[in-house]
Amino acid sequence: MATNETSKQVMSQGVMSTGDGARIFPDVEACIDCGGCVVACKRTWDVPRDEQRISISTMLEGQPAEPMERYNTNSGGALGQEGASPGETAIPMQCYHCEEAPCVSVCPTDSLIKKDDGFVDVRDNLCVGCQYCLSACPFGAPQFPGSDDGTARLFGNGGTMDKCTMCEERQDVGKGPACAEECATDALLVGDAEEISNELDRRGSDSFFNGVAMEIIFGEDADEFEGSNA
Ligand code: SF4
Ligand code: SF4
Repeated sequence: MATNETSKQVMSQGVMSTGDGARIFPDVEACIDCGGCVVACKRTWDVPRDEQRISISTMLEGQPAEPMERYNTNSGGALGQEGASPGETAIPMQCYHCEEAPCVSVCPTDSLIKKDDGFVDVRDNLCVGCQYCLSACPFGAPQFPGSDDGTARLFGNGGTMDKCTMCEERQDVGKGPACAEECATDALLVGDAEEISNELDRRGSDSFFNGVAMEIIFGEDADEFEGSNA
């Protein structure tokens, strides 16, 4: 009979370490756009039908991979800016618990905090639903599930913000994020920056995000991704 450790390895070889300092980051070359992560998150956290804490964005839909001088020249974009076009690409997008989180910088009520253990948390009791964080986040992570409820309509706000928690409660008990553990192709990597970088190298995968995005997500640790787009 398989041990728990063996089962975990079989379930997800993308989860390398959890807890303090762990990051979550996609290997977009492994993503097959199956939506398994979306379902795993919804089932684990009872996320309502019309909301998602993780979504799959399709870039360059229908385009074949080919050499190209420059694509996505928008400097705020998250795609690499030079080299070959990867062609149609599916990118799992969620809160990456950024080191230099723009949402934390713009939140006027300090509802959003970057905690010492690395998680970006939203404190519901302080959120006034202004949606500044929605404008600031390059990855589309903030959701406003209560924006249609009576209180939000009455006061004209966006309702309390909700986003990926990186399954902090699961990590507290040594489990990986549900989306990463259930990903059939191990496209969601969980570990520290060095572990994620090494795993991408081992697979021959590109980090895909441009240097600006990598610095937002990893801060100084973006240097670990030398040789990629960072
Ligand atoms: S919506 Fe809430 S979390 Fe977002 S910036 Fe405004 S107060 Fe902060
Ligand atoms: S880490 Fe957890 S909360 Fe975040 S998208 Fe994955 S399953 Fe959902």
